[in-house]
Amino acid sequence: MTNSEIVDLLELTGRLMELHEQDAFRTRAFSSAAFNLDKSTADLANLPVDELIKLPGVGKSVAYKIREIADTGRLTELDELLAQTPAGVLDMFRIKGLGVKKIGTLWRELGIVSLGELQQACEEGRVATIKGFGKATQDKILAALEFLQEQKGKVRMDKAAQMAGLLLDELTPHFDRVEVSGQVRRKAQEVDTVQLLIQTSDPISAMLTLNGVPNLLPNEVESSPFAWRGQLDGFDVRVELLLVAPDQIDRQLFILSAAEPHLQQVGSGGASLLQVAYTSPDTSEVAIYERAGLPYIVPEMREDEFAFRWATRHRADELVTWDDLRGTLHNHSTWSDGKQSVAEMAAYCRELGLTYFGIADHSVTASYANGLDAERVRAQQAEIDALNAGFGTGFRIFKGIESDILGDGSLDYDDETLASFDYVVASVHQTLTMSIEKATTRLLRAIENPYTTILGHPTGRLLLAREGYPIDHRAIIDACAAHQVVIEINASPYRLDIDWRWIDYAMEQGVMLSINPDAHTLSGLLDMHYGVAVGRKGGLTRQMTFNALSLDDMQTYLQNRKLGIGKK
Ligand SMILES: [Zn+2]
Ligand SMILES: [Zn+2]
Repeated sequence: MTNSEIVDLLELTGRLMELHEQDAFRTRAFSSAAFNLDKSTADLANLPVDELIKLPGVGKSVAYKIREIADTGRLTELDELLAQTPAGVLDMFRIKGLGVKKIGTLWRELGIVSLGELQQACEEGRVATIKGFGKATQDKILAALEFLQEQKGKVRMDKAAQMAGLLLDELTPHFDRVEVSGQVRRKAQEVDTVQLLIQTSDPISAMLTLNGVPNLLPNEVESSPFAWRGQLDGFDVRVELLLVAPDQIDRQLFILSAAEPHLQQVGSGGASLLQVAYTSPDTSEVAIYERAGLPYIVPEMREDEFAFRWATRHRADELVTWDDLRGTLHNHSTWSDGKQSVAEMAAYCRELGLTYFGIADHSVTASYANGLDAERVRAQQAEIDALNAGFGTGFRIFKGIESDILGDGSLDYDDETLASFDYVVASVHQTLTMSIEKATTRLLRAIENPYTTILGHPTGRLLLAREGYPIDHRAIIDACAAHQVVIEINASPYRLDIDWRWIDYAMEQGVMLSINPDAHTLSGLLDMHYGVAVGRKGGLTRQMTFNALSLDDMQTYLQNRKLGIGKK
């Protein structure tokens, strides 16, 4: 069992004990252990009780519970609590901002045991009348329910790509040609249908083959003779496998990979892209755009009409690719909450062919992530100096930090410490519930700070889990232009923040964008692939990609920027 699996069970136990109003002292023992162990690097599953009790927040009784979980894979006490809790009440745990106490009240006072009943109670105004709730809480619950509804049956692009890969492996041996199409091909950041095209001239036997593939769970009602619909075992999202004749597969691949608004675009030929796609004798994608009298658009950009506006100013070959990336700037190491050392991360960057590795561990305020105080900053920088001395001229580690933007917009170090970094990524991590005015002002203050080099994950959103705080994107981007601050495209598939829809506006204001993996592990560095995908979707050119700068250019840029601080 992994640490996070163990921590999840402890946390759930604590929450259920609170829900069932059990002994407050014991309840707190579970929740505080879960809180303290969340970022622990100790190997929980393999520690004996007398070692476990030495960890912060772990008392003797919890230590025995951890052993029980590690040895048996379950916790009897938790199973008993679960047996007394309706499934719908557990669902309420997924509502952001609704605490356990309030969930208990809704259950006991209004008898609510499902999300549907909760929604109804809110709509009828009954929730607002409970003591301690009020209209504002009721509205918040309704908004959160709506958000949950929208996320249902969707996965992030990393999981969708993984599923498409599994399906390709499973199906390719059986058919002449299998193609990933739809949302996965155009690199949508959230996917509700994983779609593949299967070439066949014999749909009946193809369908028989599909029904024999293990892990494919058919939905008979939604399927038809040419379309297998259902799910891949273990994934809560639709799978669609379409059977297409050999002479139609190119045409269908084009049509099914583009979103509807893109296909409706009418070119100089007078017909829509969709009409042309259906009638063109040459079904290659290049030929279809040409015949429609429209510029060629890469698959990632086939979302709407934006791509055609972009194409009046740019060509497809200006778009950034993975091979254009020269380095990486927002990463974590074991100094804060990363899993690998600075040296290991840097070595992997060299393996990937990158020429610089920027470390931006968490700052002092982020105590939950083992953030660095000024003294540990100096120690880390000494370690980096020593490593750099061994690299020669072809590779370099840059000394950065991910400095927390505090509530008033200031950064969380004194000027002397801030001046010791090669660059600063400024990010919001705490107090995420803010009005648009408050959030925008907070970010503007951070952007105006002369030490801020890059604005990190500007909205704090977590795809399919948490909406970002609202910000005035134009004001933020304009300020970045005025203060020469680079904006991050956080490439973690959980974030992809700033949203791709704002990339073009930023480029037009002269603001560069940095594809930052926010890597906490070696493999996290590869998340830059997702950043490249959404960057391309938003029209990001290699010229405006900050970490496409060569090592020399990056060094010069960062040095000049530091010199500039003195003049301000
Ligand atoms: Zn961050
Ligand atoms: Zn980070």
